[in-house]
Amino acid sequence: MHTIGLTGGIASGKSTVAEFFREQGVPVIDADILGHRTYDPGTSTFADVVDAFGSDIVAADGSIDRRALGGKVFGKPEELTRLTDIVWPGIRALASQELSDLEVAGTKIALLEAAVLLEAGWQDMVDEVWVTTVEVDIAVARLAERNGLDETAARARIDSQLSNEERIAIASVVIENNGTREELADRIKAVWQALRTNSGTERQTIG
Ligand code: ADP
Repeated sequence: MHTIGLTGGIASGKSTVAEFFREQGVPVIDADILGHRTYDPGTSTFADVVDAFGSDIVAADGSIDRRALGGKVFGKPEELTRLTDIVWPGIRALASQELSDLEVAGTKIALLEAAVLLEAGWQDMVDEVWVTTVEVDIAVARLAERNGLDETAARARIDSQLSNEERIAIASVVIENNGTREELADRIKAVWQALRTNSGTERQTIG
C-alpha cells in the first residue's frame, strides 16, 4: 500500500483535496475525526484528559465539553502540550490501526489527512507528504468567509501553526492554492494522474 500524508495550514485546501481523492475511491483517514474519537467516554484517552484537566470538562451527558476544554488550553502553550501529549498518541494508534486494516484489505493507495501531521511527528506512518499551501492574506479571506473569523483571530490562528516554508521543506508534492477553485481542481487532477502512473495502479480499482 502507498500511503500519502496530506497536511497544510488552516484554509489551505486540505479538505478540498481529500474530497477529490474520496470521490476517486481512495480511502481517506481524517485525523480530526480520530481526534474526536479520542474523547469518547470509555476510552483511555478520555480518562487521561479528565485526569489532567478535571471533571468540570465533562458535560452533563458524559462527553467531553470541547468548549470548556478549549478554554483551559487556549493561549497556554504548556497546557496545550499537556493535551496534545495525550491526544496525539491516541490519534496515532487509531490511524495506525486503520492503515493496517486497509492494507490487509488489499488497498493500493490511502490518504491520511492531518493538519498537525508534522507537528505530531506522524510522517513515519506515511510514504510521502503532500502539502497544500495558500498565502496568508488569502487564507485570512477564506477563513472570514468559511468560519466568520475576524482578521486578528485568523492571523493568530495562522501564526500559531508551522509556516508554508517549513511544510514545503518536508513535502514531496506541493499543491499551491492561491488561485481559483478551477485551478486547484486542475492541480489535483494532475497529481492524481501522476500518482496513478507512478504507483502502477492506473488500471486497477483504487481503494
Ligand atoms: P482546509 O481543509 O485546509 O482548512 P478547505 O479545503 O476547507 O481547507 O478550504 C478552506 C475554505 O476555502 C473552504 O471554505 C473552501 O471551500 C475554500 N476554498 C478552498 N480552495 C479555494 C479556492 N481555490 N478558491 C476559493 N475558495 C477556496
